Amino acid sequence: MTSAVSVALATTWLLGLLMLPLLGSLLRSGMPGVWEWLIANVVLIVALPLLLLRGHISDFISIVIANALVALAGVTLYAGFARFLHRPARWPLLLFCAAMTVPALAYWRYVVDSIPMRVVVSTGFTAAICIAIAILVARNRNMGRARYPYVATIGVTVMFATCQAARGIYFTTLSHVSDALTFDATVNVVLLCVGAAIMPVLLMCGMMMVHDALLFNARDAVNRDFLTGALSREGFASVARALLTAADRSRSSLACLIVDLDHFKSINDTFGHGGGDKVLREFVELVRSTLRAGDALGRMGGEEFVILMPDIALDHARSLAERLRNAAMRHAVVTDNGTCTYSLSGGLAIRLPGETMSQLTMRADRALYQAKVAGRNMLCVDDANPG
Ligand code: GH3
Ligand code: MG
Ligand code: MG
Repeated sequence: MTSAVSVALATTWLLGLLMLPLLGSLLRSGMPGVWEWLIANVVLIVALPLLLLRGHISDFISIVIANALVALAGVTLYAGFARFLHRPARWPLLLFCAAMTVPALAYWRYVVDSIPMRVVVSTGFTAAICIAIAILVARNRNMGRARYPYVATIGVTVMFATCQAARGIYFTTLSHVSDALTFDATVNVVLLCVGAAIMPVLLMCGMMMVHDALLFNARDAVNRDFLTGALSREGFASVARALLTAADRSRSSLACLIVDLDHFKSINDTFGHGGGDKVLREFVELVRSTLRAGDALGRMGGEEFVILMPDIALDHARSLAERLRNAAMRHAVVTDNGTCTYSLSGGLAIRLPGETMSQLTMRADRALYQAKVAGRNMLCVDDANPG
């Protein structure tokens, strides 16, 4: 083992130790993938000293076992990314691939003693893992989240794969590879140092993704109503602003439907507060299954909800609202105190040109009031609607 190679491996080992508390601190986040990343790091920490002890311990351990452990660390790292991105880890396939490095390395050590071929096996395997991670991340990037952790991961994995492939090719072009000068050649040392950075850098990419996901979840918790999962007032206000801006830009329509569950006080009185809560939760699920993908649902408080439907004609919005009212009427909620049926009243308004969100919701609210005074369980449309 030459000094340059030793320094590169020892540096990776130290970085691996530094990664342990960082990854450990993320375990309680409960994010999938963190355990796999921690285990991958531990496996590498075990493998690197075995590689460093080359010449002092048996070649089988320092070459075959140590490199197989590096391959195991690689597939475990991949499994971490797969779990984080909610994809199957495919452990049998991963373990089979890692195990296949054992006969390959043993062959190129004991049957044909070839350093270039052993380098090709290990660099080829690492390059394949890097490319697999790049493809996995590119295919399963979570839309609507920050792009930089994903773009950075794809960028560095492609760069690492290229350097690994270059190192493998470099070794196959050499005629004498056993002398120290070959290993200490600048090109090999540079490529080796880049290779030594793979695990720490990809673990940092993983941690970056976890931090981004935690931030997203924290923001989402603020913007969502805890009981029903509908948007909270704050969350709805910001979604409404975005929908209004989009409607202005594309000169498209925007419908506002305010619904209020009828006689909810008596539902609470009959079925208990827990029963009332269940009605609210199931009602929100019902609304979600009725709405279109781009529609927004917010809980304005109590048993009153507001729904924004972009790019929709009055007739379509009215039939959607009627469908929701009929579905609510047929919806039976099983509570601890019996089965509860309920109804809703709704007020619908289509945005007039230049109208603000508060003007629009005020008209929808006025229509809702008409539905309530007219006897409930009905839908009223504000008469100032265009057309
Ligand atoms: P109306 O048909 O006129 O809308 O009558 P209502 O009884 O539905 O309306 P009212 O505003 O008088 O009562 C609303 C009730 O909703 C009173 C309140 O206790 C109940 N409520 C508000 N928030 C919650 C909640 O989170 N869970 C439960 N279970 N009840 C709630
Ligand atoms: Mg009510
Ligand atoms: Mg109310």
